[in-house]
Amino acid sequence: MSRRPVTVVTGGSRGIGAAACLRLAADGHDLVLGYARDEAAAESVAARVRSAGARCVTVRGDTTEECAVERLFDIAGAELGTVTGLVNNAGVTGPLGRLADVRTEDLRRVVEANLLGYLLCCRRAARDMAGAGGGAIVNVSSAAATLGSPGEYVHYAATKAAVDALTVGLSKELGPDGIRVNAVAPGIIETDIHAAMGDPDRPARAAARIPLGRPGRPEEIAGAIAWLLSADASYTTGTALRVSGGH
Ligand code: NAP
Repeated sequence: MSRRPVTVVTGGSRGIGAAACLRLAADGHDLVLGYARDEAAAESVAARVRSAGARCVTVRGDTTEECAVERLFDIAGAELGTVTGLVNNAGVTGPLGRLADVRTEDLRRVVEANLLGYLLCCRRAARDMAGAGGGAIVNVSSAAATLGSPGEYVHYAATKAAVDALTVGLSKELGPDGIRVNAVAPGIIETDIHAAMGDPDRPARAAARIPLGRPGRPEEIAGAIAWLLSADASYTTGTALRVSGGH
């Protein structure tokens, strides 16, 4: 290949996004690493990406804001060249509990990050990639999209089901432009997201109901993301690849 692909990873500073950055760097991508707040974490991942031989730019911004998403892609294009990959990953979850007890501000926060943010990033990627003659998008969904997560966070599950619908529809819309759109649906993965919703022990506790007997590691999701972005997946579009240990 004459040029290295340029890929935007939202939420690249921690967890699944950080693992995706490291894996994609090893696979030959140059990276634009988006994050919300934690600059030190973002710079630490970026340093590891650069030491793997990839170019990497970090951009702080909230994906729920149109101007921040536009800036993320503008910087990507200006500093690294035409964007041909997007890993739509920045997401949040709400406090664990029943829908009857969820505050409106938590519903709004989850819908805005997990759905509006994904739509804004997909829209800009569609524009850039159509102009570039093609590309690939991977939306990080969740096994919750089909499990529904009763008693835990049905609002979160609903946003992830919407991500799956977005993936199917957009893959059909963008196929003629040479743009593939797929999703990865992780099960329970060991990241900070569980502590952020007040339950750091959730992955360990869930092990008993996972057929493979353990939570997943971020690297195991990164491998699926990297495959969907690779030439090996050149005939794969509109699919949701479940990586959940059988859950
Ligand atoms: P995480 O460890 O909590 O990391 C979240 C990342 O997203 C961080 O880089 C964070 O940036 C960034 N972020 C959050 N809100 C943002 C916003 N509004 N704008 C820009 N960046 C934002 O999460 P994770 O567990 O890796 O989850 C990544 C994705 O996988 C999410 O979409 C999640 O729903 C999905 N998922 C996770 C699991 C799981 O068990 N972990 C299972 C299924 C699906 P800062 O570091 O700067 O805050």
